[in-house]
Amino acid sequence: MRGLIFFLLLVVTSAVVKAQTRPNIILFFVDDMGWVDTSVPFGDSMVVVNKRYHTPNMQRLASEGIKFTNAYATPVCTPTRISLLTGINAAHHGVTNWTSPVKDRSTDVADDEMAPASWLVNGLSSIKGTAKTIFANTYPQLLKQAGYFTVHVGKAHWGSMGTPGSNPYNLGFMVNIAGHAAGHPQSYLAKDNFGNITGKAVAQAVPDLEEYFGSDTFLTEALTLEAIKALEAPINNKQPFYLNMAHYAIHTPIQGDKRYVQKYIDAGLDSIEANYASLIEGMDKSLGDLMNYLKEKGIEKNTVILFMSDNGGLSLVPPRGGVAHTHNLPLKSGKGSVYEGGIRVPMIVKWPGVVKANTRSDQYIIVEDFFPSILEIAGLKNYNIVQQVDGKSFVSQLKNPGYKNSSRSLVWHFPNKWQPNDGPGINYKSAIRQGDWKLIYNMRDGSKELYNLQLDVGELQNLASVERKKVDALAILLSHQLRQWKAVMPSFKTTGKIVPLPDRVQ
Ligand code: CA
Repeated sequence: MRGLIFFLLLVVTSAVVKAQTRPNIILFFVDDMGWVDTSVPFGDSMVVVNKRYHTPNMQRLASEGIKFTNAYATPVCTPTRISLLTGINAAHHGVTNWTSPVKDRSTDVADDEMAPASWLVNGLSSIKGTAKTIFANTYPQLLKQAGYFTVHVGKAHWGSMGTPGSNPYNLGFMVNIAGHAAGHPQSYLAKDNFGNITGKAVAQAVPDLEEYFGSDTFLTEALTLEAIKALEAPINNKQPFYLNMAHYAIHTPIQGDKRYVQKYIDAGLDSIEANYASLIEGMDKSLGDLMNYLKEKGIEKNTVILFMSDNGGLSLVPPRGGVAHTHNLPLKSGKGSVYEGGIRVPMIVKWPGVVKANTRSDQYIIVEDFFPSILEIAGLKNYNIVQQVDGKSFVSQLKNPGYKNSSRSLVWHFPNKWQPNDGPGINYKSAIRQGDWKLIYNMRDGSKELYNLQLDVGELQNLASVERKKVDALAILLSHQLRQWKAVMPSFKTTGKIVPLPDRVQ
């Protein structure tokens, strides 16, 4: 009898030990945060914009992990968020622009010359056959099946209202706090009930946070408190968890987080930019609170934290203060653009015992890489999914930061009109990066631009006229990929013809 009990104890103990060896995973996902919107330099040194902001907890995370200096998202929200969850490139999944909360509605702005591409305006779906959606499996579904406790907190924006993808419960999450079809909060302020005021509420009124209504709690803080509450159950049950900490910050409306605004006013920023800086610092405080909580619960060493943004910093004036398209300098342009300012974002990974502290990787990677990477971190292999994954795991890069792969190519595809006026790199563009070279294709006039990012991160010197062979080679590579993925293109109103792929234009 005693032997049997001892045997059972051994079995139980080893099961618990096994469960605990699977790491908890937190994706700390910020909305619209630019590459320089932090006091952590992602370039070789601090630049002017870095010095504006205070993100001590990002500094702490970077000092305990690895920062990626060449991490990419897509130019706007929904395409990035779907690539993240499914591992599919935006040109391939077909949700190339942000989705409206209203079903079947394209968010493309009307244009005199171009007729819109037939992109999938309803976003991601967990049910095959849902109109105007991409049907795919998500990694939270796979983590949940494997025994992870999956939590979503904050901005979702994966699908339009009335479609399955609008609800995070349909995408593999067991808890959803404040995520729905909208892409920004109606208000960050609890005194406005985050927008939930009778007669004034619109589709962007933030759901689920009633207990904070009327209080002084900023949205970023409320989401952090709720995330911590949601983690108590899996921690107590010793169940591994995945937390999708998807802040609404720092997307518009640029409202001040009054805990931090005054110091930025005192530092000389205008009121809009001081509010923007306060949104950043509030987000950073959330990161610090979560890191402290992990430590307090004794699970810091078994929790992986990935920090990422969903597109570059907004650089339109207004709603930003200052001079348009300067907010991401030395990178060119901002959100909505295929120039680096629109797509290159801050990324950090902390994985105690695996990632060496205070390291950096200059390898270029892209948001769809998170799908295979997170599954590999969780120890999942041989999963069955309906889609073909375009992302590549960056786990080996985490272990070997100096490794360089210059042959891989990354593709961006934005056959849409995001803003009424074409800003730098904004509206109707495709781009490809291979090694240090980047080619941009302008759908409206067929022109091509070529930059060497190693020598010219600001994309100031277009080398297309001197490096003709490079232009042709990258145009062929980009076209081949877009053809393979059946990427949608706009058409010309006057002729009715579809915009040709870049290898068909001289
Ligand atoms: Ca965004």
